[in-house]
Amino acid sequence: MRTLPPGSTIGILGGGQLGRMLAVAALQLGYRCVGYAPKGDNIARDVCTDFFENDWSDTAALAAFAAKCDVVTWEFENVPLSTVHALPETMLAPGPKALEVAQDRLNEKSFVEGFGAQPAPYKRVEDDADFARALEMVGAPGILKTARDGYDGKGQWRVASAHDADGIRFPGVACVYEGMVDFETEFSVILVRGYDGEIRFWDSTTNTHDSGMLSSSVLPAGPLVEAQVETARGIAGQVADALNYVGVLTLEFFATKAGPVFNEMAPRVHNSGHWSIEGAATSQFENHIRAICGLPLGGTETRFASIEMRNIIGKDALEAHTLLAEDGEPHLHLYGKAEAREGRKMGHVTRVSHEAGPTSA
Ligand code: AMP
Repeated sequence: MRTLPPGSTIGILGGGQLGRMLAVAALQLGYRCVGYAPKGDNIARDVCTDFFENDWSDTAALAAFAAKCDVVTWEFENVPLSTVHALPETMLAPGPKALEVAQDRLNEKSFVEGFGAQPAPYKRVEDDADFARALEMVGAPGILKTARDGYDGKGQWRVASAHDADGIRFPGVACVYEGMVDFETEFSVILVRGYDGEIRFWDSTTNTHDSGMLSSSVLPAGPLVEAQVETARGIAGQVADALNYVGVLTLEFFATKAGPVFNEMAPRVHNSGHWSIEGAATSQFENHIRAICGLPLGGTETRFASIEMRNIIGKDALEAHTLLAEDGEPHLHLYGKAEAREGRKMGHVTRVSHEAGPTSA
C-alpha cells in the first residue's frame, strides 16, 4: 500500500458517532471523507464533504461512492457483506474477512478460540428444542443472544433460571446461548495494525456496562486487569495477524479470578477507546486513519495518571453543557444527534488528571 497523499478521499460506511470522530481525525490530516449509510440521523454527514444516503443494496450508489474514494473503511460492523463485496476489495481497509468473522457471534467465538481464547460456555440455538438442550448443557444463569445484528445489549435475553426460560419466546433467528460469566470487571484490548504488520496497543481500561451498554472506561485499570492484559493482547495480536488486519481492532474480555474470558470482537474503533482522544499520544481515530492511509502509526502511550470516560446517554445530553463548569477541565464531546432518546449514546465526557486516583466524584 502506498501512502495516500493529502487531499485523498476516505470513504466511510456508516454514519454514526464513530464515523464522525474518524472524519474529524481524517480532516486534521488533510484528507476528505465521503460517507455512505441508509437514510437516518447520519451525524457523520456534518463532517463529510459528500454523503450518500442510500440503501446498503443500492449498487449504482455504491459504485458512485467508490468512484469518489481512494480507500474505504467502516465505522459499523453490521454493514451487510453484500455491500462490502460490491466495492473493489483493494480499496477496503480492513479487509472484508474481518467483517465476515465479527458479524456472527458463533463464527467470532470459534475463530478467536483458535488462538487460545476462552469464551463462556456456549451453544448454537436454532429453535425451541435447541434452546432446551442448550439450557441443559450450559445451565442457567445465562444469556440468549441473536448470532447477528446485536449491539449495545440489543438482541439479548437474560435467563436467571431454567424456569425463567419458559417466559422467553425464541426469536426465530440463529442465536447463541452462553453461560453467565462471574466476572470481577470487564476490559478491552484495542490495537492498531499497519499494512506492514506493525501492531501497537493502547492501555486497557476497566469498562462498566449498564443494561448491556458501556457506561464508563477508567484508567488505571487495576491489578487484576493489568495481570490479564498480556494474555489478552497475545490473542488479539494473533487475530489481527491472521486477518491481515489494517486499522483499529477491539477485543472485549471479562476479567475473572481464573483469567480472561473472551466476550466479543469489534473490527473497528470502539467506545471504550474514546478516552484516547485526550488521554493517549495518538487517538484510536487518528491511528485508524494513519493505518488505512499507509502513514506511520502514532504512539499509543497514556499521557495521564488517571482517566475516566463516561458516556452521556439520552436526556442527560440536554444538561451536558453544565459539565463544562466543573473543575479539572472535563472534555465534552456531543455527537449532534437530533433526538435525545432514552438509551441513545448522545456524547461522552473525558476527565484526565496527572494525579493518581479517581478522576471524578
Ligand atoms: P455484548 O453485546 O455481548 O458485549 O454484551 C453486552 C454486555 O452484557 C457485556 O459487556 C456484559 O456486561 C454483559 N454480558 C454479555 N454477555 C455476558 C455473559 N456471558 N456473562 C456476563 N455478562 C455478560
